[in-house]
Amino acid sequence: MKIWKILSPKVLTSEERPDNITTTTQAKVKVTKMLLSGAEIRAFYGTLKPKYPVYPGRFAVGVVTEAGEGCLTVEKNTRVYLHDVLPCNSCERCVSGKGDLCASPKIAGVNTEGYMRDFVVAEEAALSPLPPSVPDEEALFIGIVSICEAVIDKLHIAKGMHIAVIGASELGNILSQLLIYHQAVPILIDSDEEKLKTAAACGIYYTLKADADLKDNISRITGGRLASGSVHTAFCGLAPDFPFQTTAPDGIVVYTGFAFPDSTAQLKTAMENRLTLTTVTNDSTYYASAINLLVNKAVHFAPFRFASSPIADAESSLLSYQKSIENCEALPYKILTLV
Ligand SMILES: [Zn+2]
Repeated sequence: MKIWKILSPKVLTSEERPDNITTTTQAKVKVTKMLLSGAEIRAFYGTLKPKYPVYPGRFAVGVVTEAGEGCLTVEKNTRVYLHDVLPCNSCERCVSGKGDLCASPKIAGVNTEGYMRDFVVAEEAALSPLPPSVPDEEALFIGIVSICEAVIDKLHIAKGMHIAVIGASELGNILSQLLIYHQAVPILIDSDEEKLKTAAACGIYYTLKADADLKDNISRITGGRLASGSVHTAFCGLAPDFPFQTTAPDGIVVYTGFAFPDSTAQLKTAMENRLTLTTVTNDSTYYASAINLLVNKAVHFAPFRFASSPIADAESSLLSYQKSIENCEALPYKILTLV
């Protein structure tokens, strides 16, 4: 099989590997589509100083071409989501059978080999079969929907509760849509009007520009109470202490994302208002719920209009983000097709 690797900033190459099933609980999967997301793009540019070589490809789907005799949930031709967060199998939690709560999970394309490859041999436990009603283009977002569900779990939402979501990129947008599905009221905030327009097209009612009137606008929406909770999404371009001005006293602030830039925050306001600060990242407990949410069409993807390219154009696709990287702008997702 062919696997792509990044050797150093802006050097993408590939290598050949054997690809045989070695245990009865493994399956061989033809990777059909993957997302080009911040993980691959930042590794390509060396933004977060990764340890090279990086084998990229965090979010991917494929089709099983061969299944070991011991596989129970997949067989030849089963379409699958390849898990992006995998248990380390060696920490105390993994050893005691709680691999989904692994203390130091392996992240595809980040600290373990990713899915930018033509075939992958994986344990059946690292594959989620896909229902026919979930197209590949939506299934690529299972890891993202899953982290959103983990955030919603932390927020302990009740019907009608206002939640400020800071950052309207794909993660903030999908989180807001799911908050609506769970009967909360998201207020999505960004400094980029285009992203807010996409959010409105996805059915998110309260979208606010991060400007001088923001606090007054939140106050008006919440009847003067501010948001019960706020979620700050990584690389949103707004400071990590930004949620302190959107959250009501005794509220909760969740920091989430798939990677985090170096950052500092002035905590005085958070302390004075008795805010609870917490984080969500790399969660593998919600894949099944995420698939169920996609079956129920809880997320509208059409307004995103993701670009798609063949894998042969991977390098030029990565190079097309040069300006966005230089200007620290958002990195819109692209779909890479491997067939
Ligand atoms: Zn572990």
